[in-house]
Amino acid sequence: MGKVYLTGAGPGDFELLTLKALRLVRKADVVIYDRLINPQILAEVKEGCECIYVGKENKHHILPQDEINTLLYEKALLHDCVVRLKGGDSVVFGRGGEEALFLHARGIEFEFVPGVTSAIAVPEMANIPITHRGKSISFRVVTGYEAPQKGYAQLNWETFRQDETIIFLMGLHQLSTIVKELLKIGKASSYPIAVISRGTLVDEQVVVGTLCDIYEKAYQLPTPALIIVGEVVAMREILTQNSRIGDR
Ligand code: SAH
Repeated sequence: MGKVYLTGAGPGDFELLTLKALRLVRKADVVIYDRLINPQILAEVKEGCECIYVGKENKHHILPQDEINTLLYEKALLHDCVVRLKGGDSVVFGRGGEEALFLHARGIEFEFVPGVTSAIAVPEMANIPITHRGKSISFRVVTGYEAPQKGYAQLNWETFRQDETIIFLMGLHQLSTIVKELLKIGKASSYPIAVISRGTLVDEQVVVGTLCDIYEKAYQLPTPALIIVGEVVAMREILTQNSRIGDR
């Protein structure tokens, strides 16, 4: 019986893969991976390693979660080293916890291998620091997918602090609702907001705007994309002057 490594693959840029994840990918007998995994990572597997795509992003599941859980279990019965590769970090809206519980309940050894989450790295590589003294003393990472039909029924918008950065993952299709709710809790229509599409990758697009104009400017951007709201967003303009965007 083998072990399953619930491994974060980072936000896209191959070099944001951790050394630990790279070592495990090279050692793996089986790699089970999602849609957002950089193909350069998969090119690192050893000969004979079985790579299984279970493409999962938002609602476009190739395999339902319970079948993914079963697949992990079955592969762990047959092989020593099973690597479950997910975009970013597997416990940030990645269902890593569910997979861990499933394996644990069946006596399969597992280990979480942290990855660089898109929530922090994507804004950062676009020159938006998610906290900054005097502008933002905390940040919150929220899923835009939780209640698509219910207009964010489960999210208590009133609890958002004035000086907090909010990062919405899986939220592009909810952009107009997000803007509406933020205006309702008293954010100014000039409040800074950005959408970052395919962050950390060569075809990254960053659109900075205000609550007033972001929807028109950004709703058609390709996915994956995240939304970041807060005074820190306005820092990008200064930080991006005279500096090339980082190597990709
Ligand atoms: N576990 C992942 C997040 C999974 S939810 C992590 O820690 O990063 C998937 C969402 O993450 C996408 O809908 C998008 O909002 C965001 N995302 C992931 N990679 C991204 C990228 N390269 N650029 C922009 N957003 C990204």
